[in-house]
Amino acid sequence: MKRLCIALAFLTILIAGNVSARQSELDKIELLRKQSDVPTIHAVQFIQSFGRKTIISYSILDGKNELLVPLAFAKQMQTGNTRINLFTSDQVDQQIAGENFFETLTSTLQQSLQQTWPEFAEYTLSIELHIVPEGVKIKDEYRSAVKNNKLHVRYYFRERDFTDQRYQMGIARTLSHELYHLFYALFAPHPPKTRLKRSLAKQKYHILNESAASIYDACFSLELVQKATIRNDALTHVNGRQGTMDDAELNRLLTTKKNIPENFQSAIGVALFHTVWVSVNGQNWDMLAETDAGQYFRELCNQPGFGTLTNIEAAIEVIASDGVDAMQLENRPQE
Ligand SMILES: [Zn+2]
Repeated sequence: MKRLCIALAFLTILIAGNVSARQSELDKIELLRKQSDVPTIHAVQFIQSFGRKTIISYSILDGKNELLVPLAFAKQMQTGNTRINLFTSDQVDQQIAGENFFETLTSTLQQSLQQTWPEFAEYTLSIELHIVPEGVKIKDEYRSAVKNNKLHVRYYFRERDFTDQRYQMGIARTLSHELYHLFYALFAPHPPKTRLKRSLAKQKYHILNESAASIYDACFSLELVQKATIRNDALTHVNGRQGTMDDAELNRLLTTKKNIPENFQSAIGVALFHTVWVSVNGQNWDMLAETDAGQYFRELCNQPGFGTLTNIEAAIEVIASDGVDAMQLENRPQE
């Protein structure tokens, strides 16, 4: 079986850095993982083997309770070839459950995916969204065969994410992020497989793919609510710097011949995303669509080829050679 794509999005895992400071090299990167108390993981994997294509969508929600009462189908939202089927427990009051938000989410998702991957026109996408009560433990691995160009994913979220406006963007960004990974694996040209460079190309592919998916979900947020915010749970420390990488480390990353451990590649991808963010938006945790930074992000995402990683690599090369190091991200300002 060939593994084409696995990406853990929005891990609630903090990557705490060692403090070997400026002389450290990315080649020797040492990141320490610190598990936070409540891990939430959403991920997607695309497998192609002997012509069979399978999508596996993962949801892990930490909690103490089992799900005792099965969820019931509540509602369907559809625009074009994109459909969201909603499943909830009895406790969720459908009337207050952000109906407009999820209608808009469906249509914006459809437009956005269609623009980035014209191939999507030949497919249908069905998303199962399961909303579980607070405190319930979920560990779901959902396999779906791709037949007749039908794509099917299933994700679990908490009631709070669904009913409370402050958290709804989390669902929107996670969906757009994971679908970026999936559509990239489905539609983009595969990374080169020359014998010598195989490992390196694969590594670069993982890292750039993670940063592109993060930029894509930020763009999706700008599209949906004209604003995007850094996600606290995705902050990384790379060689003692919080959030971002300086030019020297970017250049090392772009040219390194050493292997970066696979479990750090996603974290470095997120650090790249934050480096692009800070380079255009300064240390602001919020980005507004109508600002220069918001325009930059939206133009980057709307360029033809954003679904193939070439633009993102070019954008990072520009940032790495501009002679100005990206500032570190400071902690989230108190609200
Ligand atoms: Zn990801």
